[in-house]
Amino acid sequence: MVSKQDLVHVFLVTFPAQGHVNPLLRLGKLLASKGNLLVTFSATKSIGKKLKKAGTVVSGDPTPVGNAGGMIRFEFFDDGCSEDNDDERYDLDNYLPKLEAYGKAALTGIINHHAENGRPVSCLINNPFVPWVTDLAAELNIPSAMLWVQSCACFSSYYHYENSLVPFPSDEQPDIDVQLPNMPLLKSDEIPSFLHPSTPYPFLRRAILGQFKNLSKTFCVLMETFEELEGDLVNYMSQICRIRSVGPLFNNPILETSSNISGDLIKADDCLEWLDSKPPSSVVYISFGSVVSLSQEQVTEMAYGVLNSGVSFLWVMRKGATSTGEPGELPKGFLEEAGEKGMVVHWSPQAQVLSHSAVSCFLTHCGWNSTMEALSSGVPVVAFPHWGDQVTDAKYLVDEWKVGIRMCRGEAENRVIGREEVEECLREATSGVKAAEMKKNALKWKKAAGEAVAEGGTSDRNIQEFVDEGFLSRSFL
Ligand code: UDP
Repeated sequence: MVSKQDLVHVFLVTFPAQGHVNPLLRLGKLLASKGNLLVTFSATKSIGKKLKKAGTVVSGDPTPVGNAGGMIRFEFFDDGCSEDNDDERYDLDNYLPKLEAYGKAALTGIINHHAENGRPVSCLINNPFVPWVTDLAAELNIPSAMLWVQSCACFSSYYHYENSLVPFPSDEQPDIDVQLPNMPLLKSDEIPSFLHPSTPYPFLRRAILGQFKNLSKTFCVLMETFEELEGDLVNYMSQICRIRSVGPLFNNPILETSSNISGDLIKADDCLEWLDSKPPSSVVYISFGSVVSLSQEQVTEMAYGVLNSGVSFLWVMRKGATSTGEPGELPKGFLEEAGEKGMVVHWSPQAQVLSHSAVSCFLTHCGWNSTMEALSSGVPVVAFPHWGDQVTDAKYLVDEWKVGIRMCRGEAENRVIGREEVEECLREATSGVKAAEMKKNALKWKKAAGEAVAEGGTSDRNIQEFVDEGFLSRSFL
């Protein structure tokens, strides 16, 4: 047995968003479960406060994960904004530089403090949008890796764009298709939308490309995908940088052993009992993740479409879920008319919902976590992408992995999807030949995902090797 002092210290730094916290914390727990590592999970203080409020034990003391001797602990840093008011953080154009300035200074202090107190950091791991963590690692002479929390297809898109290796849509040619190696032809609205010249979010493009400018500074890219899903592409991109596919990170059995440590930033409403009361494969789960907001008109059309389709549904409507920041307002009498058939919650325990036998399909914004969670739970989708990587994920879900029906093409389409279209998509996804075919394919992916994370599976081996190499060399190089 390795003593606490001998544990190799791996320090994880996350961008403060639900879709980033979830996969990085899951990775942290998996690394710790493999033994011999002390994992520190680090985020802004406001994230710490939300995790705690939602019920996670965010102790600074090491907590064992699994039986192999590894531990996880938390450490939070100041981002220069008030802890309780997120308004400043939503203004990403101004917030991102602030996060970098404060985060870098705070983490330098924290990491130096660990070194002085006999707990030196041997490896820093960050996720996208905080590329300055990689700079910090280089400055402090600490090896660094990155957890890529999107698909390998998006990774390749950003890489080829950053290095001008193939033509992408431009101001002069906004509508050209993009052909990347080992990938299907992407229409101009199927590339990650931040790369399109018309994106209203150039600061997000800058933030994400910052990581690609820093790629040579990381010794390894850990990727939330699995070989069976994107193997050819992972192999191709591995000629460029070292990639280890480690996904799906979420349905790994080891995570259940420390279920009091979860990445939820909002406490989930209880809806599992309601699902228990429903017949198998009878409920459509509707959620658009933690960021996307719909116009009030879209909420209304969606609501009537759902009602008219006659399906049972569990709908996550976040507080502030419309584009005006207001909670979505459902049409008058909507819930009464839905009756027993419908439930609306502010936040759901999504992983458990997707693995519930009552769920038939998932109307999703196609965020990568939701995509991986659906694929590995064997749940077909209705794709309602909005922006960023979601449009590329939708393309793959529908055309490549054949588990989805497309309801829209994304924000660039600039239209409200009417109730008839919503109704038609839901009917097609829940009954008939197409629905059966999608379910069959979804179950195939579920099986492959399960094999990847099972002991000795491709992702399991990749995590084990990462840990072993790091532990043996004690420097991760
Ligand atoms: N999620 C959840 N409950 C909800 C909605 C979402 O637990 O009601 C989780 C979901 O399981 C996923 C994450 O929040 O892990 C959202 O990440 P994703 O990449 O799908 O979308 P984002 O929020 O980043 O747009």
